[in-house]
Amino acid sequence: NEYLTAINAQNPAINGYITLDTDKTLAAAAQADAQIAAGNATALTGVPIAFKDIFCHTGWRTACASKMLDNFVAPYTATVVQNLLDAGMVTLGRTNMDEFAMGSTNENSYYGAAKNPFNHHHVTGGSSGGSAVVVAARLAPVALGSDTGGSIRQPASHCGITGLKPTYGVVSRFGMIAYASSFDQAGPMAQTAEDCAILLNTMASFDERDSTSLEREREDFTRDLNQPLKGLKIGLPKEYFTPNNSADVQAALQNAMDLLKQQGAQLVEVSLPQTELSIPAYYVLASAEASTNLSRYDGVRYGHRAKEFANLDEMYSNTRAEGFGSEVKRRIMIGTYVLSHGYYDAYYLKAQKLRRLVANDFQAAFKQCDIILAPNAPTSAPELNSLNQDPVQAYLSDIYTIAVNLAGLPALSLPAGLGADGLPIGVQLIGNYFSEAKILGAAHQMQ
Ligand code: GLN
Repeated sequence: NEYLTAINAQNPAINGYITLDTDKTLAAAAQADAQIAAGNATALTGVPIAFKDIFCHTGWRTACASKMLDNFVAPYTATVVQNLLDAGMVTLGRTNMDEFAMGSTNENSYYGAAKNPFNHHHVTGGSSGGSAVVVAARLAPVALGSDTGGSIRQPASHCGITGLKPTYGVVSRFGMIAYASSFDQAGPMAQTAEDCAILLNTMASFDERDSTSLEREREDFTRDLNQPLKGLKIGLPKEYFTPNNSADVQAALQNAMDLLKQQGAQLVEVSLPQTELSIPAYYVLASAEASTNLSRYDGVRYGHRAKEFANLDEMYSNTRAEGFGSEVKRRIMIGTYVLSHGYYDAYYLKAQKLRRLVANDFQAAFKQCDIILAPNAPTSAPELNSLNQDPVQAYLSDIYTIAVNLAGLPALSLPAGLGADGLPIGVQLIGNYFSEAKILGAAHQMQ
């Protein structure tokens, strides 16, 4: 009830939630009460949670912040959501995002931009901007986001919270609306690394309905939370520590380095030479996958359908012209182009090769260090209507987050102070495959 009251009062100013259903929330809360009364409570029973609008959730509008799915009520529930509901969590509502998770500012939402909690004239970052702002503004204790190229870490950084993108395959993608399937991964967003670890314990599961889900032994992601940092080797990629970063971002990195040194960690310089190539590689591959994934929105089975058309082809094209926003159309066109006969080898295949080189860079770096420290973005949260004016500028701002997705590695963002502009700045910890517990532990020691 407390959260619902706060949401009613504060959500209109920040536009973090785009769908609320008080009756459903209260019914779930009553069920959690019954579970507790029956002695069946888990650590998460009755804890409210907000879900990014990308996760199917039976009975809830699941629009992926697109006009295309504005009328779509999910008939089934994503595995990761179900895992949390089974543990007794209570859904508060659905959070704002860039349409189909394409964007870095949350301004590509059909429902309007979410606003930065520290300054309403600035963006939240994206695409999981709604999840970041509702946690930051304490309109939810925790939330889920998804990260295809930085969409958990970058808004977490811009809003002053903690967010984790797990190793690709650790969390099921079943029921999470697909953007770029070989990159997409769901993750927790919370005030602290400890809360992220607790959530991930319940989120992670093998799922035969996701062909890339990994069958692994159950793991306790909280196990390293109290592990001292003494002797830990922290890699500083020289390509990430450049004068292109704002003075505030440089100061936040310095804070983090000081904190790590004080606790006995050792800082070593490492190199990720293919850093520059990760942007073109990512935008070719992610757009290619998006163009095929989004071909399902044709107006036939569900979602938006144009009212006026003379024949079937026109029904498809009018539906898609009306239902998709301009960034989504841009990605579909780029993706279709790079996959087309005659361009496939020059673009798509080349980008796949670059993807391998980027992943190899990380493996070389992890021979010299345990964890990589990095910025999340070159600046704090930009002003509304600034970054989004130029798509290439927006793509370039993903420089520090997307290589992680190309490689499939786990990484998190944790708060590292406020800049001179009063906006929060986070730093990123990147680990090798399956080292979630280690980076969560390091983040916990730094918080
Ligand atoms: N900004 C990147 C993109 O637009 C990443 C988005 C994401 O991680 N979903 O593709």
